[in-house]
Amino acid sequence: MNIALIGAGLSALTFTRYLSSFTTLTLFEKSRGVGGRMATKRHGSFSFDHGAQYFTVKSAAFQDFIQLPDVKPHIKKWDIPIHKIAHDHKLQQIDEKRTLFVGSPAMTALPKALSYQLDIHKSVEIIKIKGQAHQWYLYDQLGSEYGPFDWVISTAPAPQSAKIIPDICSFYHDLQEVQMAGCFSLMLGFEKKLPLRFKAAFCEASPLGWIACNHLKPNIPNTTSLVFQSTKEWAEKNMEGDKETIQKKLLKEACEKSGLDLTDYTHSDIHRWRYASVIKAAQKDFLIDAKQGLAACGDWCIKGRIEAAFESGRKLALTLNKYSA
Ligand SMILES: Cc1cc2nc3c(=O)[nH]c(=O)nc-3n(C[C@H](O)[C@H](O)[C@H](O)COP(=O)(O)OP(=O)(O)OC[C@H]3O[C@@H](n4cnc5c(N)ncnc54)[C@H](O)[C@@H]3O)c2cc1C
Repeated sequence: MNIALIGAGLSALTFTRYLSSFTTLTLFEKSRGVGGRMATKRHGSFSFDHGAQYFTVKSAAFQDFIQLPDVKPHIKKWDIPIHKIAHDHKLQQIDEKRTLFVGSPAMTALPKALSYQLDIHKSVEIIKIKGQAHQWYLYDQLGSEYGPFDWVISTAPAPQSAKIIPDICSFYHDLQEVQMAGCFSLMLGFEKKLPLRFKAAFCEASPLGWIACNHLKPNIPNTTSLVFQSTKEWAEKNMEGDKETIQKKLLKEACEKSGLDLTDYTHSDIHRWRYASVIKAAQKDFLIDAKQGLAACGDWCIKGRIEAAFESGRKLALTLNKYSA
């Protein structure tokens, strides 16, 4: 069986892990690197996980997965107190019972490890899928053709998958029903130490939803790297705004919430995530049209979480194994 995977985020990489070995796999990723929303930006000694900040582990399958010998070294527990900053800026520690995990030395470490030895075409954006059942061709942004493939699996966020999956596909309408929301991540780097009142905090009644001292994650060089993530509501209202204005607004809020003057940063950056979280999931573990040889998976099938991306990719692979047996 010859399979094309669109995207190289965690759901796609998990899929490759659980698929039977007698399958040929080709991945297409529009970015320069793998990991999708498990993302890290570096600038000198500053390091920012500007996508997912951490993850939790509930299912036995995910628990087993993170114990695998080639996975375990890339994951660490993130044991820090978590606070909540109230609307009046008062700080309260949250009774966090969950164990938080992070990629080590950065969130991209896990996807990078999983992508080892895979055939991945990077910086290739698939813009069209054409052909017929179990004989599909992919076309990229430069007009190059790839194929034919028996199966095409899209792991791009649902609104992006909906643009390329052929409308004859039985789950085409399920894709249209999924709703996702954006997020802005403001990154600030300082050469000095800052007298911050907290290490990581959720914010109430603010354009900011989350603030974290990224440099306090395990195995990260200790250069002050702060990440400020907007709420999805604020991101949706400001999605088309120019980045400079967004950056200024979030910086002002960051100063207010931290109670510090953060304007003398050494490095600053802003990232716009158009599809960060899941508002309305497909409510199926994955989507499949076995007659056509088309499928889709990703966190948006279940819930906007890393564990959901893992489960969706894993369950689709186990199902496809039955077709190739
Ligand atoms: C700001 C932010 C904060 C988050 N916080 C948390 C958190 O605290 N905890 C948690 O568990 N989760 C969090 N998440 C969600 C988590 O990152 C996702 O659930 C998970 O990474 C999704 O993996 P995925 O493989 O389903 O999708 P993605 O990681 O989005 O992978 C899809 C891939 O497809 C590629 N792609 C898209 N279209 C095309 C195309 N046409 N051609 C080729 N490639 C394409 C993309 O570049 C991407 O690499 C957060 C996400 C963001 C953005």
